[in-house]
Amino acid sequence: MPFSSLGLSPALQIALAEQNYAKPYPIQTEAIPAILEGKDILGIAQTGSGKTASFVLPILEQFQTQTTTKNRHIKALVLVPTRELAMQVNEVFKALSNKLPEKTKSLAVFGGVAINPQMIALQGVEILVATPGRLLELISTRAVSLSAVKILVIDEADKMLNLGFKEEMTQVFGLLPKKRQNLLFSATLSDDLNNINRNLLRNPIVVKVEEEVKNLDLIKQFAYLITEEKKGPLLRYIIKQNKIKQVLVFTSSVHRADAVAVKLNANGIDAYAVHSKKSQEARTEALSLFKSGKIRVLVATDLMARGIDIKFLPYVINYELPRSPKDYVHRIGRTGRAESSGEAISLVSPEEEHHFKVIQKKMGKSATLINGNTIDLKGY
Ligand code: AMP
Repeated sequence: MPFSSLGLSPALQIALAEQNYAKPYPIQTEAIPAILEGKDILGIAQTGSGKTASFVLPILEQFQTQTTTKNRHIKALVLVPTRELAMQVNEVFKALSNKLPEKTKSLAVFGGVAINPQMIALQGVEILVATPGRLLELISTRAVSLSAVKILVIDEADKMLNLGFKEEMTQVFGLLPKKRQNLLFSATLSDDLNNINRNLLRNPIVVKVEEEVKNLDLIKQFAYLITEEKKGPLLRYIIKQNKIKQVLVFTSSVHRADAVAVKLNANGIDAYAVHSKKSQEARTEALSLFKSGKIRVLVATDLMARGIDIKFLPYVINYELPRSPKDYVHRIGRTGRAESSGEAISLVSPEEEHHFKVIQKKMGKSATLINGNTIDLKGY
């Protein structure tokens, strides 16, 4: 089914063509017509499924067709768990709205940076993408009013709860007009989330996309069995031998992310670490340098990697294994996206071997095992 049969205007279709979106992803086929009809949505989908465009497109379409008064009030509010996701979602709004005759101003606001520029930038904004804490700050200074919100989107709701935003979310919900459309997206469902669904959504259309399974088949998985102290040299060996141009490397701790990046740089491989202890500016800069191909390696912890959207990332390396199999799938899902194949490589120490077996069993897939201890790592 083409985009043209989903009820989107020609200007949006031109923007879609510009973004090389040839045909809708399943979540878009299901969600877009329902959202255009004004229905509430519960979308069970993760990054990579095309969920962002599935709410961005109908929101933009509705703002074109409804004669809304330009009263400089927020009409669509998108709540997101992280700054990175806020910026990313806003970029999609901007990219897809640039051909529209009725200009719709969108803005991303998030904590960790000065509030004043955001207060100024809020002038005339109709679509606001926000992390909950900063949104409440802006509301308390009267820079934002939610009294005219017609559509609420909660993106990565499960992550929002995991990060402890329950309280803030409840506060935000209390400030919204009763009559509105609600779109909730989450990769997983939990009891807490079901409570939110029950309280928030009115007869939602449930859209479920099993992205993980499709993705995993596209990903070639390898695991090097290696002693802990040889992981650094092996990482550099893999990057150099495979002439890897872009790779996302995962570590379990902030400290290790820094240490790995330092060692890579010392060995002539451009690398940046992104984690929660880095300033917002440093994180933004690292991400944009990585996205534009100016740095070769981004070393990240799980939290930071969530929502990082990089097209055609060919390699993901687990320097250390994550604790949960779900996180493993989430990590390796950074590659093999958008129908292109990728490689996920795990460096597994003897202490991690049992845990890696558990991960593979849970995932229902096994990685090709390579004995890294027999590789000559001299000079790496
Ligand atoms: P998301 O799940 O929203 O993070 O989107 C995942 C990736 O798929 C992003 O890089 C989008 O730009 C891309 N994408 C979304 N929808 C389409 C589509 N219909 N055709 C091609 N690419 C798409």
